[in-house]
Amino acid sequence: MIRVRGVIPDSIGAELGIRTGFELLSVDGRELEDFLDWEYLTAEDAFVVRARTADGELVEYDIERPEGEPMGVQLEPPHVRRCGNRCDFCFVDGLPSGLRDTLYVRDDDYRLSFRYGNFATLTNLKARDVRRILEYRLSPLYVSVHATDPVIRRRLLRNPRAPAIIPQLSELAAGGITFHTQIVLQPAVNDGDHLRQSLRDLYGLGAPVLSVSVVPVGLTEFSKHYRVREPNAEECRAAVEAVQEHQKRALAERGRRWVYGSDDLYYVAGIALPTAEEYDGFEQVENGVGSVRYLQQRVGEARSDLRVLTGMRVAVLTGTAMSRLMPEVAGTVADATGGTFDVVAIENGLFGPSVTSAGLLPGRAILGALERCRGYDLALVPAEAVNDDGIFLDDVSLEEVRTRSPIPVRPSYDFADALHAEDHS
Ligand code: SF4
Repeated sequence: MIRVRGVIPDSIGAELGIRTGFELLSVDGRELEDFLDWEYLTAEDAFVVRARTADGELVEYDIERPEGEPMGVQLEPPHVRRCGNRCDFCFVDGLPSGLRDTLYVRDDDYRLSFRYGNFATLTNLKARDVRRILEYRLSPLYVSVHATDPVIRRRLLRNPRAPAIIPQLSELAAGGITFHTQIVLQPAVNDGDHLRQSLRDLYGLGAPVLSVSVVPVGLTEFSKHYRVREPNAEECRAAVEAVQEHQKRALAERGRRWVYGSDDLYYVAGIALPTAEEYDGFEQVENGVGSVRYLQQRVGEARSDLRVLTGMRVAVLTGTAMSRLMPEVAGTVADATGGTFDVVAIENGLFGPSVTSAGLLPGRAILGALERCRGYDLALVPAEAVNDDGIFLDDVSLEEVRTRSPIPVRPSYDFADALHAEDHS
């Protein structure tokens, strides 16, 4: 059963009389469990929906709809699948207490992997889930592999029951499923020869493995430092070497580099970032792989659309990771707009200085920085630090930041979104 959260006016659902609070029970006799069932089973032009109204009355809708017209029925979100692992580097363990409850949920859900690109380990898949993935063609999936050796992977995940990942991926791949994968690097556990072996094993699965990212483990002040540490420069350099070696092979054999180090990996290693072309389309940019080059590319492409800011001073607020790399990007934007862009690095007051990502900056730290920003005409704040409801991780709202800031504030992912020429507000 899935509950209706809303119905778009004038849609097919509204015309049928489906209302908020109705329970959708089945489509063509097949019971509904979540949004996947609904989307897949109502993809046909004709089908029968059984539902229960808010008064408990059972109704049946015999639906024929014009091709491509959406039903207009919005569903309540599914219960998120909980994670059965206990990784030492889990970000949830690294959270301070007192944040909103939803942040402490360890999700490991293949449905969210398919829909939103969340990485899942697949360790909690049941036979029925595998059938659904294959039937609904949930592809590509984003999979946290970490290590292909089952013993090492179980140790990393702290889950003695974690199934071997290569047979799992092989079975899904045989059914036409593809994957973007990641290896979170934990020094002295899955680096060195283990990393090379993991890359060989994943490469050996052929075309279904679309990409691999190699990301150094990231910890906060609250993480289990007695059990896990971040890789040092030498360890990151060794990982970059392994990535580059494998890239050569993949490029020669498949025309793509296939494996990519995250920006952090290069930064800690002290090695210059690859060029934009070397990311082959930025398939894992959301995972911090190629973010800087992507940003530069976006700004370059949007050059002619950026509004003229001649004489204006703009403060660009960001995390300490991006601030090291941002001056290069800010220079490109300054050339394109005629404005002056100063990068303001903000230390993470919630998780500690080791957390350097702009997306994890709390609202209070941003407000504190804004209050110190004098002589600016505009401030850009990282849009990725705000959720869909306009709230930062520490429950401060963007609205509050805007109200209390001494200068106008715009959330921005990539400059181009905040400095578009048509937007003169
Ligand atoms: S897989 Fe590991 S890192 Fe991810 S939620 Fe579970 S315990 Fe945390």
